Amino acid sequence: MPKKRKNRGRGKGGKGKESLVQCDYCGALVPRSKAKKITRRVSIIDPQLAKELREKGAIIPVTTLTRYACIRCAVFYGIVKIRSRKERKKRTRLA
Ligand SMILES: [Zn+2]
Repeated sequence: MPKKRKNRGRGKGGKGKESLVQCDYCGALVPRSKAKKITRRVSIIDPQLAKELREKGAIIPVTTLTRYACIRCAVFYGIVKIRSRKERKKRTRLA
């Protein structure tokens, strides 16, 4: 059977079944390894004020926001781009 990708678009290997995650954009349930994980560090305080407080020596809590996107939404929202046949082989870190 011809394969488009070596890992069939996911990182499961011979593991069998794996847990599902919900896409934050469309709500689809997708396997964890197939979904794109997007983490963003967010501060509750606005950056201008946070900078001033940091200079004074205050510790500002920063929470990490984790979102999952199914591959359809990841392509649609530009999180991942469609790559050519050769480019697909490269392993890149998701920003
Ligand atoms: Zn989705």
